[in-house]
Amino acid sequence: MNVRLPADNLLLAALPAATRRRLLGDSAPVNMALSEILGEAGQRIRHVYFPIEGFISLITPARGRGQLEIGLVGSEGMLGVPLMLGVNVSPLRAMVQGAGRAWRVDAATLQQELAANAGLRASLNRYLYVFLAQLMQAATCTRFHLIEARLARWLLMTRDRAHSNQFHLTHEFLALMLGVRRVGVTSAASALQRRQLIRYRRGDISLLDVRGLERAACACYAIDNQIYARIMNRKSRQQGSSASVATLLAAQIVNSIAC
Ligand SMILES: [Zn+2]
Repeated sequence: MNVRLPADNLLLAALPAATRRRLLGDSAPVNMALSEILGEAGQRIRHVYFPIEGFISLITPARGRGQLEIGLVGSEGMLGVPLMLGVNVSPLRAMVQGAGRAWRVDAATLQQELAANAGLRASLNRYLYVFLAQLMQAATCTRFHLIEARLARWLLMTRDRAHSNQFHLTHEFLALMLGVRRVGVTSAASALQRRQLIRYRRGDISLLDVRGLERAACACYAIDNQIYARIMNRKSRQQGSSASVATLLAAQIVNSIAC
């Protein structure tokens, strides 16, 4: 059974109509193609993406040891959070992992609106908090949790953003997701398959038992979802902390995961 497709990006859907009009104008959603690179580490951010159906993988280059995926952005979030901190350079590579539509906003347009609109800042700052919390959780997960439980977690995260119980992920990409060699992916995927939680054939993945997979996943999956629900459904009375401290904190977390 597939999950229902979202009507819109959740962050944009929560904004007042006038703010949304100023951000999007008359533009239509763009199509994100599979494997399209939307941003490179160290390069200037030109556009911000708010996915509707598609989803984006955030990848940090672990120098000398390939790459590691440290986050996923789908209709619950946005690509381009450094702009909220006044920084217009991406710390990560962003690659489309699930094709689909997204709203695309010029970086300059978002920055102008952020400067003039305290409501938008408060709203996107809450997402920034959730994003940082997810990075921290990813650091803990990579260091302490077993590959099989981590694979279950990432498959559930992918499912939530793909809005489907069936999707395609190559062995190579699963290895990148988990920061392990392909042989480690094979044994973890086989274990989940033996438990009849998933079916995996040449990269085509079907989640057969989502509840069972939730039980097999490490606690990080539930923790991420709880933080998102708690923070994004709550009106914050604070305007966020110092942008420079938050930027530094995010960079340190990314480095500690890839270390
Ligand atoms: Zn974990």
